[in-house]
Amino acid sequence: MNRKPTLVPLAVLALILSTRPLSAQDLGRHFQKIRDGIYVYGVDDLPGRDPTSNCGIIVTQEGVVLIDSGPNPPDSLAILKAIKQFTSMPIRFLINTETHNDHTTGNFVFSPPAVVIGATGTTAGIKSYYDPKRNEKLMAESNEMREAFRGFRLVTPQMEFNDRMTLNLGDRTLELIQLKNIHSDADTAIWLPKERVLFSAATAAVNRFGFLRQFVTIENIKSDLKKLKALNPEIVVPAHGRPTTVELLTETERFYDVLLDRVGKQIAEGKSLDEIKKDPGLPEYKTWTGGKARLDTNIEAAYRALKK
Ligand SMILES: [Zn+2]
Repeated sequence: MNRKPTLVPLAVLALILSTRPLSAQDLGRHFQKIRDGIYVYGVDDLPGRDPTSNCGIIVTQEGVVLIDSGPNPPDSLAILKAIKQFTSMPIRFLINTETHNDHTTGNFVFSPPAVVIGATGTTAGIKSYYDPKRNEKLMAESNEMREAFRGFRLVTPQMEFNDRMTLNLGDRTLELIQLKNIHSDADTAIWLPKERVLFSAATAAVNRFGFLRQFVTIENIKSDLKKLKALNPEIVVPAHGRPTTVELLTETERFYDVLLDRVGKQIAEGKSLDEIKKDPGLPEYKTWTGGKARLDTNIEAAYRALKK
C-alpha cells in the first residue's frame, strides 16, 4: 500500500508543541515542578550562601499567579522567560509574602499587568525598607544586573487584605492567610486546598535560624505554625530553601519548644541574657545555618517571652 505521509498542518503542530507539558529541566536548573502547573524557582547551590528567596509560579486557566518576584531582577527576568514557555496567558496577580527587598524588588518586572497583593502593611513596609543605594550596589556587581534593573520602579501592592482573602481562577483556589508579626511588617502564607500545597512564607526555614526582629514574638510564630499545620498540607514551600513537607513546620515548632525550655532553665539558674547567649546549650542545632547573630535574636525573643 502506498500511503502518502500525513502532513500535520503547521497550526496543529504549533498547538501540540505549545501544550506539551514542560519539565522543570526544560526551564533550567533553578526550577522545580511540584504539581502540574505549579513550579518553584529558587537558587540554593551558591557555595557558602544561604538559599535565595523562592518564587512560586501557579498556572491557572485564567492566567498566572506569582508568589514573590524572585530575589533580584535577573531572577525575575528568568522567571518571566520561563512563564512564556508555559502559557501565553498574562500574569494576573503577584502576591508578596513579605516586605523585604529580596522578595519584592522584582515587582516592576511583572506589574503591570500583574496586580500586586499583600497583607495590610505590605506597601508601607516595602517603602520603609527601600534603599536606592542597595540597588546601586547591586548594579555595580555586573552588567547583567545593571541591564536587569533597566526600567526599575518601586512597585508596591495595589491591593492589601486583612486576615484572609481568596483568589478563584479557573479550577484553582488560592487562600491568602495573613500571618501576625512572624518575620517582616506584613507576612502572607498561601494555601491551595485542592492541591494541598502550602507556601508557608517565613514561618520556617530549612535547618536555618530565622532573624527575629524586636516586634516578632515566639508566641505569634507558634500560633501561626499551629494554624498552618492544621491545614494538613502535603507540600510545604518555605520562603527560602527547597520545597518539603509539613515536617518542616513540626521541626520548627520543636526548635522553639527546645529553645524556650533551655533558656527557661538557665533563667531559673539565675543566668543573665548575655551569659545565656554565650552558652545557650543547644547542641542539637549546631548544624543549623544562619550564624550566631541570628541565633542570638532567637535567644533574645525567648528571654523576652519568659521574662514577661
Ligand atoms: Zn525577609
